[in-house]
Amino acid sequence: MTKQPLEQIVAGTAGASGLIFEAIPQARLREIKAAGVDEAGNQLTVQVDTEGGSPLRCCLREADPGERMLLIAYTPPGTRGAYAERGPVFIHAEPCAGYLTPNRYPPGLSHRPQVVRAYDQDGRIAAGVMVNDGTHATTVIRELLARPDVSLVHVRNVGYGCYNFAVRRVPHASN
Ligand SMILES: [Zn+2]
Repeated sequence: MTKQPLEQIVAGTAGASGLIFEAIPQARLREIKAAGVDEAGNQLTVQVDTEGGSPLRCCLREADPGERMLLIAYTPPGTRGAYAERGPVFIHAEPCAGYLTPNRYPPGLSHRPQVVRAYDQDGRIAAGVMVNDGTHATTVIRELLARPDVSLVHVRNVGYGCYNFAVRRVPHASN
């Protein structure tokens, strides 16, 4: 059991920081599409993003103009009790590859100012911080996840507050 220094993990993942950036899992997306309704019982209805720019929670980038999407109600991970919440998110109407570089902040969303919201292990909000872009967000996320009381963070839109993705620490399972 040699101790894997963080630098080594980072070096192996091209600029990652011991963080996992988590889109809606592919299995969950398949379940929702197979059911034909979202978790709130709403029928799935395809809509076209004519102008583009809607953040897609399946692959963590903005829609291109003309892309076909579904708007679904979704409960993000890590919230519980009175803090549990469900909100609207866009996903691709058709299967997509998902988010392929979970060790880095999504480049396709990096230009967006966001709110980083931290949760403790009981699903309660522990902090909320406004950030200007992905670089700023990554610094804040790292600081928050270094706190012992924080178990995961959400990255959310400013204004409407909609959930975009979650970030966790890489689990310490040294291979
Ligand atoms: Zn997608």
